[in-house]
Amino acid sequence: MDYLYERISYLKGLADGLELDQNTKEGKLLIHIVEALEDFADAISDLEQEQLELENYVDVIDEDLADVEEAIFEDEYDFYDDDVDYIELECPYCNEILYIEDDMIDDDTECPNCHERIVTEYNDEDDEN
Ligand SMILES: [Zn+2]
Repeated sequence: MDYLYERISYLKGLADGLELDQNTKEGKLLIHIVEALEDFADAISDLEQEQLELENYVDVIDEDLADVEEAIFEDEYDFYDDDVDYIELECPYCNEILYIEDDMIDDDTECPNCHERIVTEYNDEDDEN
């Protein structure tokens, strides 16, 4: 942004060198043009500052979002790692606690203890898929 102010300073210097007379129409016009340019530079400088603040704010949101994503996907990973491969079941016939591989459960799954067939909600869900 500094270069804009440098150029305006240069124009002001030129205007001073010309010894512009504010009482002539041309002098008045040129002086007001330089002043208007200075206002533009101020406005752009303000915008630049606000832009930087927004960028910093977005960076902070991005970092927070990354933390949230990490927490969510970590939980999801744990869920699949711990729960899907093996399902804990209580046999309804002998009450034995069984750990059966998710993929192995079907309508013919038998309790390894009492050899009764075990039908679970997991079976129904798998059949629909
Ligand atoms: Zn059983």
